[in-house]
Amino acid sequence: MDDCDTCDSVGVPGVGALPWDIDATTEALIDRVRAGRMHELRGDVPLEDMIPLLESELMYTIVSFVECLDCGRVLFWGLCVRGNPILRHAERTDIDHRQWGAVPPRAR
Ligand SMILES: [Zn+2]
Repeated sequence: MDDCDTCDSVGVPGVGALPWDIDATTEALIDRVRAGRMHELRGDVPLEDMIPLLESELMYTIVSFVECLDCGRVLFWGLCVRGNPILRHAERTDIDHRQWGAVPPRAR
C-alpha cells in the first residue's frame, strides 16, 4: 500500500498464489488494535473470531473494516471460504453501503 508504516506492515504475503497469509495478517491487525494503532470500526464478527468462523464454513465471506489511527484511512480485510483474502484501503462510506448479513451462531 502506500506511505503509512502501520498500514504497509499489516499485510503478510501468503505462500504461492495466496496473496496474503490469512492467520498472520489477521494477527497483525489484532496486534495493532491492541497496541492502539488501529481501531475496529465494523465487521461481521470481531477480528479474533474471523478465522474460526471461516473454518466453520458457516459464512462464505467474512469482512472487517479497521481504521488506521496513524493515517486515518480505513482498511478492508475480507476472507472468503473458497477465494483469496482481500486487503485494501476502503472508503468509510463502504461500511454503510455493505449488505451486512446475519452471522450464524458459532459452531460448537
Ligand atoms: Zn495507515
